Order: sequence, then C-alpha cells, then structure tokens
Amino acid sequence: MSRFWSDHVVDLSPYTPGEQPKVDNLLKLNTNEHPFGPSPRVLTAIKDAADDSLRLYPDNDSTALRQAVATLHGVQAGQVFPGNGSDEVLAHIFNGLFRHGDRPLLMPDVTYSFYRTYCKLYGIACRTIPLADDFSIRVSDYVGAHPVRPAGIIFSNPNAPTGIALTLADIRAIAGANPDVPVVVDEAYVDFGASSAIALLSECPNIVVVHTLSKSRSLAGLRVGYAVASKEIVDGLVRIKDSFNSYPLDKLAQVGAVAALQDSAYFDETRNAVIKVRENLSKQLKTLGFEVLPSLANFVFARHPEHDGAALSRALRAEGILVRHFGIARIDQFLRITVGTQADCDRLCNTLSEIILKTH
Ligand SMILES: *Cc1c(COP(=O)(O)O)cnc(C)c1O
Repeated sequence: MSRFWSDHVVDLSPYTPGEQPKVDNLLKLNTNEHPFGPSPRVLTAIKDAADDSLRLYPDNDSTALRQAVATLHGVQAGQVFPGNGSDEVLAHIFNGLFRHGDRPLLMPDVTYSFYRTYCKLYGIACRTIPLADDFSIRVSDYVGAHPVRPAGIIFSNPNAPTGIALTLADIRAIAGANPDVPVVVDEAYVDFGASSAIALLSECPNIVVVHTLSKSRSLAGLRVGYAVASKEIVDGLVRIKDSFNSYPLDKLAQVGAVAALQDSAYFDETRNAVIKVRENLSKQLKTLGFEVLPSLANFVFARHPEHDGAALSRALRAEGILVRHFGIARIDQFLRITVGTQADCDRLCNTLSEIILKTH
C-alpha cells in the first residue's frame, strides 16, 4: 500500500509464478519447462542476428514470425497475433474482447489462475463453472442458456493444471452454442497430444486459439506466444497492442521463434520423448499408490489417498525436488509434476517412494 499508487492497484491479485531458485542439483518439476533445450537452429539464428542492427527498432509487425505461424497452421498471416509470451497475448485478449460492462466471463473453477488475475486487472466480472467430479470440463454447462449473457468463455485445452483435454467435437459444440461471444482456447500444452481448435476456425469465427513457444518449443526464456483467430478479431488485438507497446517482440525473439517453428524434425522428436516419459511417469506414480488424472500435457496431476499434498510437496522440496502445489479448494491434495527426462522422473519417484515409506 502506498499513497502514490492509483486506487485500483490495491485490489489487484497478482499471479504467483512457480519459483526459480538458484540452488545446485535442484530438480525443477514445478513450471512445466521442457527438459530438453531448444532446437540448435534457434541458437544459431539468434547468434547470427546479434549484430549492429540491434541499434534499430525491430519489425513492429513481426512479419516473418506471423508468416511462419501462418504456414505452420495453414492460416493467413493476418490471422496471427504474436506477443511477448502468451501471457501478454492473453492480457490483450482480456482487455480487447472481454470488457463488456457487467457481462461475466465464463471459465472453469479449476483452470489457469492467471485468468482471474486479468479479470481483476481489467475489471471483468467472472463466473466460474465447477469441473465435473472427474475434473473434466462438462460441455453441457457451456451450451445451455446462460443466466446472463456472457462476455466470453475461456479455458485451457488441455486444461491446466488437470492435464485433461476436450475433443474438437466438444469445442465445436461450445463455440457453436455461443456464436456471439469469443471462445478463447488456451492451447499452451496442445502439442503434447490434444487436437488444436485452429482446425475449427473456418467453421467457428468466434474461436480464438492461444499458443506459446514456452512449453513444447522449449523457449520459456525467449517470451513468445501468439493467438490465431479471424482477421476481424486480430485487427482489434493489434489496436490494443499498438496502444500499449508497439514493439513487444525484440529482434532476437522474432528470429529465434521463426527458427523454432521451422524445425519440425527437432520439435517432433523432443515432444514425442516427453510424451513417452509422461506415460512412464504416470505408471510409476500409480505403482506408488497415486491417483493420476489422464494427462495430455507435459505435466501430470496426481494425489495420494494417504498422503497430504502440501506435506508431500514440502518433503520433496527438502530433498531438492520442486513440484507445484496449489493450496486451492478441490485441488489442494494434488501435486502438479512437470514431465522431465526419464532420469528426472526416476529420481522423483525414488524420492517419493522413500517419503511414503518413512511416513507410514
Ligand atoms: C505456461 C502457460 C501460459 C503462459 O505461457 P507464456 O507464453 O510463457 O507466457 C499460458 N497459459 C497456460 C495454461 C500456461 O500453462
């Protein structure tokens, strides 16, 4: 609190990212970073671009990047809206598409917690809809008549932190039943096994798909994300961007992102490796007695019937292993564990097994 702050600053609820401590031999399975580095082509592209031209402003339209995204997904470059990480893209979406007076934004009660932060920041009312008992999104809750006309709908697919994905038929049903409101599908984890709603864009012009290079492209440090939507929607987002920061992506981020998107062989190899370890990790955790939700992401969400989630998270931390625990109703017994290398997951499971034996 400070007398220098604008009034609304007091009421914000800032997002708390997973911690990034600087400790040796720490195993970080808490922020869903990719266990393998980015494509070597990304590093070459960035090194080659680091020259005197950095004295100039970068391309404010990220032309080459928009074209690379368009080619990758089979859309027009004018349908692509890049930003400084998908969090920034999401912020502009909230600001530009969801501010309609008292009309609420609909979202699951358990989903990416940043959405509520943006609602606070932009004064957007929010109506949360509980997940089903199996932690899936119940499509029928979004297709019936709504008590008030919503400002929009947002969810992650696969959902975070459950890892559970909807099918394209489900998403088509939600978008089709709400043709006059934007339906934003945050696909931060889609490359690890779910289907992208970009395939529905020609049929459902109200869908906005958000992607990040932080997870499946192993570039969390570069800060690049993008939305794919109708040109009409993208034009509105560009108006917001150009009223905020016309140069959100620096030159090195733009060339690095293009190189990453073009290296499909490296992408396939590394994401397939993560998927394989995820399946092993789920089995290993089940052997230890955990209930593991069916994940299509690069993390698993698991709880043990006899061991408290917060206690397990603390015990792992004492052994130098970080996982994410959310002290939130409904999910406070779960651990969200990022899929690392097989060796990382073996270390995690061995440590968990010792903790469980010790506390019996
Ligand atoms: C990680 C994540 C993001 C943010 O990604 P950045 O591009 O790194 O900002 C957005 N949505 C979800 C669901 C995520 O898990």
